[in-house]
Formats: sequence, structure tokens, C-alpha cells
Amino acid sequence: MKQRIVIGNWKMNTTAEEAVLLVEELKKQAEYVELDVELGVCPPMPWLLALNEILDETEIGVGVQDAEPGDFGAQTGSVSIKMIAEHAEYVIIGHSERRSTGQDNDESINAKVKSALENSLTPVVCVGEFTHLYEKKRVRGRPTKLEEISNIFKQLQQAIKGVAEKDIPKLVVAYEPVWAIGTGKPASPEYAAEIIDRLRTVLKRASKRKLANEARILYGGSVTASNAKSYAELEEIDGVLVGGASLKASEFMKIAAAFSRQ
Ligand code: PEP
Repeated sequence: MKQRIVIGNWKMNTTAEEAVLLVEELKKQAEYVELDVELGVCPPMPWLLALNEILDETEIGVGVQDAEPGDFGAQTGSVSIKMIAEHAEYVIIGHSERRSTGQDNDESINAKVKSALENSLTPVVCVGEFTHLYEKKRVRGRPTKLEEISNIFKQLQQAIKGVAEKDIPKLVVAYEPVWAIGTGKPASPEYAAEIIDRLRTVLKRASKRKLANEARILYGGSVTASNAKSYAELEEIDGVLVGGASLKASEFMKIAAAFSRQ
């Protein structure tokens, strides 16, 4: 059975000191409990090396919230996936907060996914719809053909274009409806599970069924310690990507515990 995964996206938060305190606390709390769940945190880039050192020899992995494909070059202000590969395990790719500002598009996301895989990092590919439309249609009855080709699925198809079949199991996909991010209005677990199921169909079209089933597909959007269990109860949901609630160690660890199979 594949291991579930809980990843924290700290976004543009924490001072250097707060970041260290937060991971020290996570480390301490993780020592008390044995959890059967993969855990990762994605702090702001400048704290990466220090936090990676603190978390070395723990079960908690560190990642970044974005990085450029390629190795080195004349790109002022950029950090490449190659540069961070030795110091990180995950790279979040195509978060809606970057898509919506034009910092990322289908093409750049696809290049980042391939670069992450080439550099042995786990890409955490974010997809999700911007408006409530999908959910509104859904409650009226069966999903329509139009919905089937909706943006969410296209985003994933584009993100994994040209990815080798053997690499499909290495993907982590995060389904994050934009209207649920940071709003305190999460998608219902059933709704999230249904979309995740259909996202898996996209992976199945790109590889063998068995390989597609090995990839982990997460939900993200206003997950808290109080609602985490309701998502964990559904087998389709292989974990969560957590924003706000990942900034408090005890809250984050409670979410992790909800997804632990032990
Ligand atoms: C996110 O930004 O990836 C996210 C899921 O945020 P929040 O949990 O705060 O809704």
C-alpha cells in the first residue's frame, strides 16, 4: 500500500528565527509518535539549507515552493531546481498563487515537472479550478461532458506531457480548488475524492493503470486539524497539501496523525 503524504506550504511566512523554532517543534513532536505517513515542509527558499540540516536524520523532508527548470544561466534573481536538488526532496509546482499572477503557465509547469524528475526531486504538481462553477454544476446531477474537459484535467495533462511512464508513480498531484485556498471554505471530502478519482484517470491515460495507481493525489484547501480526518477517511485521497495550518506545529502534526495508517 502506498504511503500517504502530508506537505506543508509555508508560503511567504516566517522569519529565519520562527522557521527554525517551527521545525525544532515539529522534530520534537515527531519523536513522540510513530506515524505511518510521509511528512514534508516547504519553507521560503532562504531557510532551506538551515532547515534541511536541522531535519537531517528525521523522517521530515524539506522542499521548496517553486524553482526554475534547467541548471545554471543568465536568469537574474532565479534559483534552479538543479541548485536545490541536493538540499531538498520536494518542489511545489504550479501553485494557483503563481498561475494567477502569470508567473507560471502550462509550459513552464511542464518544464519544471520534467526538471524535478531529472534531478530526483518529487514534484508536487498543483491543479485546480478558479471558480465555483464546477461544484455548482456538480450538485445538479452527473458531471457533464464540458466538465470532463474542464481546466483541472487539462492542467494535469499539460503538466505531465512527455513525462516517461516509469516516472508517473513519482508524481505527487495536489488538487487545490482555488476557491478553497485560505478561505476557510474547503471542498467537501466527497467532492475532492471525486475529482481526485478523475485526475487519476488522466494519469491512467498517460501510463499503465498500475503505475498511475502508485502516484499520490492530494487534496489542498483550508485543511485543518479539525477537518483532516474527514478527508483521511476516503481512500481516494492520498494526503493533503496544507497552507495556513502548517505554520503551527501541533496543528500540522494533528493533520499528519489523521493520515497515518497506524
Ligand atoms: C495552499 O496554499 O496550498 C493551501 C492549501 O492553503 P490553505 O491550507 O491555507 O488553504
